[in-house]
Amino acid sequence: MKFFFKPQMIYLTMFTTSLFVGCETETFESESSLSQNGNFEIEEAYPDQTGKLHSILLDGEEVMVENFGDNNVSVIGDMLFYTDNSDSTKSVGRTGGRWPNNIVYYEIQSGMPNQARIRNAIGHWEANTALRFVKRTNQSAYVFFQKGGGCSSFVGRTGRKQTINLADGCSTGSTIHEIGHAIGLYHEQSRKDRDRFIKVLFGNIQSGKEHNFQTYVQRGRDGTENTSTLDFGSIMMYSPKSFSNNGQPTITKVDGSSYSTQRNGLSSADITGINKMYPGNTNLAAGKPSFQSSTYNNDTNRFGPSKTVDRNTNNFSHTNKQNNAWWEVDLGFNADIKDVQIWNRADCCQNRLTDFDIKVYDRRGGRQIKSIRINEEARRGKSYDVNARGRVVRIQLRDRNFLHMAEVRVNGTRVR
Ligand SMILES: [Zn+2]
Repeated sequence: MKFFFKPQMIYLTMFTTSLFVGCETETFESESSLSQNGNFEIEEAYPDQTGKLHSILLDGEEVMVENFGDNNVSVIGDMLFYTDNSDSTKSVGRTGGRWPNNIVYYEIQSGMPNQARIRNAIGHWEANTALRFVKRTNQSAYVFFQKGGGCSSFVGRTGRKQTINLADGCSTGSTIHEIGHAIGLYHEQSRKDRDRFIKVLFGNIQSGKEHNFQTYVQRGRDGTENTSTLDFGSIMMYSPKSFSNNGQPTITKVDGSSYSTQRNGLSSADITGINKMYPGNTNLAAGKPSFQSSTYNNDTNRFGPSKTVDRNTNNFSHTNKQNNAWWEVDLGFNADIKDVQIWNRADCCQNRLTDFDIKVYDRRGGRQIKSIRINEEARRGKSYDVNARGRVVRIQLRDRNFLHMAEVRVNGTRVR
């Protein structure tokens, strides 16, 4: 069973948790426990089980699937499909099954264990793409996160309630992966041009699991690729020994060599492709020069200002406790800034970012163009309207405190 935490990972999680208890006295976070899923290999809906194999007609094509009791739902690895298939369009692949207006409605099962992984995965998607995840009210098409026996998701928007099933062992990275399915992504190795990049070694694949290695074209779906090459670093890429029956690789590079995979987050090629599927507000702040009034314990490696524009909602910047502590980013050009999104440090201390200003300047140390007072607790991913033209965005506390933020996204358009 591939998806459970290794024992040392459990230890690490407990260790960091115990550090967080003392948060009020400013403890370190050695490294996010969320990035400790590097050993993750593959998501499956029903780990270590093989369902009843049968073929169904999916958009007029005969496709092998597995069935695990619910005749209405067919399973390919960790991807679920409604067998009646009545609501899907011809071209789900990477071109259909989209969520209109970039909004994914969702609900979380009450009592769902470890909801932080869902919040963090959603935060990761929102910090890196134009997609927004909105709690469902009365929408009939939405994602329902629920406890399951494995990790699995439907592919693309189905037009009705669609589950993302998460066993306790499904990490934040796997949750990011399953959301990838829900917004329309197939596995990276199922690209229609994959044979230019990889070899699939069918002789090493467990009997009955071969259908997991079909391209999505072979599954009766069409679509265009949004990137020009297969990305081994994609969060949607299978590991080399997925579904192996003998410990030997089931996938190699086309030259026969191996490769490594990751479940830390969306790769830059993932983001490129998703931006084509869901174009929208551009995050102007990512990777731009950033500054802050001081750095906690002078530890710029851990708490430097750039942690706030690294597109990782777990790392965070951190000032010392001081009057009117500030952080700012220099976009390097004038922009029409629509809104600013702020992710607080996840594990504690949100209330430290309660009474603050979002300021826009024409340059660093220059003229202030706008200042917006936010007198409420900033929550993770919360968006604040700015609607101003400027080049530098500053977040500044109004009182004496620490300032730490996991991510700031400046959404807008560059002025040409
Ligand atoms: Zn998957």
